[in-house]
Amino acid sequence: MNPLRLIARRAYSTIHPGSRPGITNGFIGAIGNTPLIRLNRLSEETGSEILAKAEFMNPGGSVKDRAALFVVKDAEERGLIQPGGTVVEGTAGNTGIGLAHVCRAKGYKCVIYMPNTQSQEKIDLLRMLGAEVYPVPAVAFDNPENYNHQAKRHAESLKNAVWTNQFDNTANRRAHIETTGPEIYAQTNGEVDGFVCATGTGGTLAGTARYLKDMKGDKVKIFLADPPGSVLHSYFASGHKLFERSGSSITEGIGQGRVTDNLAPDVGIIDGSLTVHDEDTIKMLYRLLDEEGIYLGASSALNVVAAVEMAKQLGKGKKIVTILCDGAYRYQSRLFSRQWLESKNLSTAIPEHLQKYVVL
Ligand code: PMP
Repeated sequence: MNPLRLIARRAYSTIHPGSRPGITNGFIGAIGNTPLIRLNRLSEETGSEILAKAEFMNPGGSVKDRAALFVVKDAEERGLIQPGGTVVEGTAGNTGIGLAHVCRAKGYKCVIYMPNTQSQEKIDLLRMLGAEVYPVPAVAFDNPENYNHQAKRHAESLKNAVWTNQFDNTANRRAHIETTGPEIYAQTNGEVDGFVCATGTGGTLAGTARYLKDMKGDKVKIFLADPPGSVLHSYFASGHKLFERSGSSITEGIGQGRVTDNLAPDVGIIDGSLTVHDEDTIKMLYRLLDEEGIYLGASSALNVVAAVEMAKQLGKGKKIVTILCDGAYRYQSRLFSRQWLESKNLSTAIPEHLQKYVVL
């Protein structure tokens, strides 16, 4: 068998042991193995192929389904949770949604702490999926009231409960070493020249980058993309100095104030980094809807802006891969609302011919 096929099959069977092609073993069996969408207009424009991994097609609707499954499987394998137990997590939303699905599928209870700056759609969905949700004030990680520390304390107060700790639990990056990376490698016939994405926990970037570098060494370049208000671009640009967080972004689920344990082992394999401003992100979000018919959340649009920039930096004729993390459904009351866009001074970033999409 073609070795690339073997890699794809191995990646698939990691998530889906004993599966039959075309039939999934429950909800969990449907996680991963997402298409790689060629963004046609941007590929023509750049002279490189811009290929975007359609993670919004995961059954829980985001890239975080993969990490959610891996952290729960890890807790089970390490004997940290028994049947009927409780999974507790601090999350901006998507990991929580993935966990809520996985917990229902596996019969666990799910408790979610999240910053109260997140969209109402995500909070409502978590509750509809049976999770107990605590929106708490958005304070820095070194504050004991940060949502992650509250999640940890909650888990410690219960019997048969685990805090899955997505930021520093490296089962998260393993999800991408074992599935996302091999899938991308197989889908591009091993001909991927660049991979770029933004980071929340860093699991997607680090795990995928690690696999691709292991397969291709310096023949694949890895870039990190940062929204304003995140410290990682300046961390890489300054030769690994950590600055105070300042500024903010409309993107949800990405941006970081520290180097997490998921990112730390791979700091040395990141070849470059860039910052993407909200104006460019929102413009790309509307362009992707208009030109490609894809309805995306803001972090996906930011990733595509970064992929286009990477294509420019690497020169024509390359294959650049990025991640479409989730769909716009979870944010539509913001991203398609004129009032909200105006409150963020972003209304004018949307060109005249795309204004018709601002319908709320
Ligand atoms: N985009 C969105 C919408 C997310 O929710 C997240 C996770 N918080 C990411 C991107 C980043 O993924 P990771 O945690 O793997 O860095």
